Amino acid sequence: MMSVASRVDVDTMFQPVSQCWICGGTVLTPFHEYRFDYHEYAKQDPELDAYTGRTGRLVRCRACGFAQPDALPTLPRFFERMYDQRWSADWIVREFESGDKDFIFQAILRELDRRVPGRPRRLLDIGAHAGRFLHLARKEGWDVEGVELNPRTAAYAASRTGATVHQANAHTLAGAGARFHAIALTDVLEHVPDPVALVASAARTLVVGGSIAVKVPCGRSQWHKERLLARLVPSREISLAGNLVHVNHFTPRSLTLALERAGFAKVDVGAAAPELPCGGSAVRRAPSNLFRLGVYAVARLPGGVRTPLALNLQAYATLSLGNVR
Ligand SMILES: [Zn+2]
Repeated sequence: MMSVASRVDVDTMFQPVSQCWICGGTVLTPFHEYRFDYHEYAKQDPELDAYTGRTGRLVRCRACGFAQPDALPTLPRFFERMYDQRWSADWIVREFESGDKDFIFQAILRELDRRVPGRPRRLLDIGAHAGRFLHLARKEGWDVEGVELNPRTAAYAASRTGATVHQANAHTLAGAGARFHAIALTDVLEHVPDPVALVASAARTLVVGGSIAVKVPCGRSQWHKERLLARLVPSREISLAGNLVHVNHFTPRSLTLALERAGFAKVDVGAAAPELPCGGSAVRRAPSNLFRLGVYAVARLPGGVRTPLALNLQAYATLSLGNVR
């Protein structure tokens, strides 16, 4: 009787996902098991913490190579509750002032500048976090707005940059109509179930012919990297989907398909620029950052995006006239 009861319990906590979110494929092969640990939310959100100790599996679609969870939690607003981190004011300031991602942000701004040279030009940053990218984009002559789910970082980004930062999700903003010439989703799309729906909503804020920039981890390369590290450091656990922080695991092909399904054309996917940490000792930092730049340089060679050296993917695409709006 006990085992039946606990199975019913698990079944009500999860809803199976039986089709690939990108291509609709139904041949999904499990390849990795992960464990939930939300004990940090024990006081703030006991219902979320009830998932601690549960496990889930990542499955890979045979048709397009995309990987996703085989089931999603049924708890209402699960992901919003998970991202309701009560970060300290000091931490948010450090996130804004850290230049760790500036090399990535500058690469994106250079490409968007090439695509949208005219003025005035309007840019929407989806997942604006503490507002660093908004700040840099404004210096490059963009009129900027942001979307950020977390109330604390959204408020900070708005006050620090003076930009409008909508404390909402991109679906909410889609109703406001098409007015941006470019949108950026940097380290965002891997976090949201059903990513094509999110990109399609984002597309509704974009003028026809406008550009999108999407950066995500490359699921397959991260899997190779994690397995290599686990072999080198036996105590290290493979970390791919812990706590469902990353729900989407893209390949170059499945990222292209996701953008096309959302109405984009001329999709270009390459290796993304690496994060270059600025803090700590310069002596320790320099070799590590040089290594990152070396891997990036090789991953940018022809065909490099399909090798495990492309740890992150950077896609650009143009909203096509054929998009059903
Ligand atoms: Zn698929």
